[in-house]
Amino acid sequence: MSDTPPIFRSEAELAALPASERIRYRLIDAKCRYHANDNIAEHIRDGELTELRAEVQAKLQQVLQSLVIDTDSDHNTHETAKRVAKMYIEEVFRGRYVAMPAVTEFPNVSRLNELMIVGPITVRSACSHHLCPIAGRVWIGVLPNEHSNLIGLSKYARVCDWVMSRPQIQEEAVVMLADALQGRVKPDGLAIVMEADHFCMHWRGVKDDDTAMTNSVMRGSFLKDAALRREFLSLLSKKQVK
Ligand SMILES: [Zn+2]
Repeated sequence: MSDTPPIFRSEAELAALPASERIRYRLIDAKCRYHANDNIAEHIRDGELTELRAEVQAKLQQVLQSLVIDTDSDHNTHETAKRVAKMYIEEVFRGRYVAMPAVTEFPNVSRLNELMIVGPITVRSACSHHLCPIAGRVWIGVLPNEHSNLIGLSKYARVCDWVMSRPQIQEEAVVMLADALQGRVKPDGLAIVMEADHFCMHWRGVKDDDTAMTNSVMRGSFLKDAALRREFLSLLSKKQVK
C-alpha cells in the first residue's frame, strides 16, 4: 500500500460523493485492505448499503446496455439490473458488508478434550476470477482444551456462510474461516477441509465436468499429531468426501 497521505475531505465533501467512493475513502484513510474477500462492514454507515445497491443497479444497467440488450421491451431483463444488485449486496456477497454473526461462547466446563467434527456444512460462494458460483461442503475438526470456548453447532455454519458469501478463492477462504474460528474457540487443534465445485470450469474455459477441488488447513495438534490428522480424515471419508 502506498504511503501517500490521502487528500483530506470534510464530512460535507464526503456526503456529496457516491457511497462507494465515500466508503473507499474511509478504507484508504484507515489503511484497510479491501480485496474481494475482505469484510469492510466496519467502514460502512447506516443507510449506505441501500445507496450501494442503487449504485450497483445503475452500473449493471449500463453493462446490459453495452451487451446490446433491449431491457425496455424485453420483459425478461427489464428488472435484471435491480435483481442482480440486490442479490450481490444482500445475498451472495453479503459477507463483505455485514459484521460477523454474533456467536455466544460457552466455557468448556466439562473439559471436553475429544476430537469433534462439524459437517458437512453446505457452502455457497463465488470465484473472485469470474464471479461464477462455487458450491461445496466444509468439514471442521476441533480439538478443544479446558481453556477453549465452545460455540453452538449452528454457529459454525453461520460463520462459514459469512466467510463464503464473498467473491472468494478457495485456498484463501479456508484460511479465513480457520482464522475466524481460531480466535473464538481457541482450540488446541483446528482442521478444515473444503470440497467444492467451481462453475466457471463447467460454464466456460475447458468445460471440464470433473472439477471438484479440495483444500485443507491444519493447525496446532492437527499439524503435530499425525494420528489425530488420520483420525479426522478417516472420519470424513466415512462421511463421503470424494
Ligand atoms: Zn473462476
